[in-house]
Amino acid sequence: MDSKIRFDLHTPCYIFDESEFERGITSFKAALDAKFAKTAIGYSVKTNSLPYALKQAHSIGCKAEVVSHDEYRLARLCGYAPNEIIYNGPMKSWDTFHEAVEGGAIVNIEAKRELCWLDKLPEGKVYNIGLRLNINISHVSPMDADGDDDNSRFGFSDETDEFKDALQFIASRPKLRLAGLHIHRTAHSRSPRFYENSIRYASTIIKKYNLDIDYIDVGGGYFGIFPNKPTFDDYSEAFHRALKESGLDNLTIIVEPGNALTASSFKFLSQVIDKKKVDAKTCFVTTDGSRNDIDPFFKKSDYLKEIIYQNSDSPTVPLQIITGCTCLEYDRLFSLNNAPALEVGDHILYNNVGAYTMTLSPQFIRLCPRVYSLNSKGEFKLVRRESRAEDIINLDNNA
Ligand SMILES: *Cc1c(COP(=O)(O)O)cnc(C)c1O
Repeated sequence: MDSKIRFDLHTPCYIFDESEFERGITSFKAALDAKFAKTAIGYSVKTNSLPYALKQAHSIGCKAEVVSHDEYRLARLCGYAPNEIIYNGPMKSWDTFHEAVEGGAIVNIEAKRELCWLDKLPEGKVYNIGLRLNINISHVSPMDADGDDDNSRFGFSDETDEFKDALQFIASRPKLRLAGLHIHRTAHSRSPRFYENSIRYASTIIKKYNLDIDYIDVGGGYFGIFPNKPTFDDYSEAFHRALKESGLDNLTIIVEPGNALTASSFKFLSQVIDKKKVDAKTCFVTTDGSRNDIDPFFKKSDYLKEIIYQNSDSPTVPLQIITGCTCLEYDRLFSLNNAPALEVGDHILYNNVGAYTMTLSPQFIRLCPRVYSLNSKGEFKLVRRESRAEDIINLDNNA
């Protein structure tokens, strides 16, 4: 059992471990700095957009990596200046795009309408912009590909004329300067080899068109801090190997981790609210959490969980199925075989649930749970209250 967790917290709730979050950021930064002179980390906002975490990432020196106008505005509200934002994705708006480019953000062009927007920017100054390069994993790193045509709907492709045309568009406007390439793709393997191969591919493109750029933005998709998995050092070394070969190791290296920083920084605490016996062997144990809170894709079959019994000599029972509190029949989290019987008030703590949970949980039946932070002194603080019916009514009333 995690001795740091206090069980008078109001469940259901997420617990944000500030020290763990900081540890991830500082160790990734150290791994990059050991190999490169110029590096930056853009915290992927979509992976977990809790403002408290965004502000903490900012205070440790991260940029915010955003993929929509709403995320851009959220990052601004959390204290990021435009030049502390990396702006990606097709869901930009003209207003935020304009502010970002003018304000010195790293803006990686993703859609052709953004090229048209560049023409609307005031003359008289040079704007640095980046381009996202389309990556087909089957062609770039076949061993990491999902099938033989693992293509992507993002970026400009050099397998067609689109990348070359975008380069020509930029080159033909004196007010524009190509400052970098963005190559985010996630391979299932999350292997350093995949990054090495995609950077190698980007390097061939840089050489082919003789691009004089400042940065390569390698994107996200890394493992966090897990035993027997690639480390931040392994990734940084792979980037370096690929860039060194072509003499490009003086480029600024940008990474955009989400999962690697957030997964292990968030826990979810729930407690048993009811028990039901439906046949001779099966007991359903209802908890106040839901699969929606920690597995919004309904794909996981088990969790890194800890069960905290109030009573240490509970009798063993053959089968307990731990369920959520929603009215979905399939809101079943995990089963326990021949384990001590859970009782109302016992707690279940789920570890490693910070990535793609809170940002994807539907507002289904019960709105978003509260969030506590846990600091390095072991102090808990409520950093987000639970969402309430009043919040929904207010949206409509203020329409
Ligand atoms: C989602 C995303 C990331 C973060 O990916 P993780 O798997 O959470 O590390 C980084 N960059 C871009 C462009 C993304 O879309």
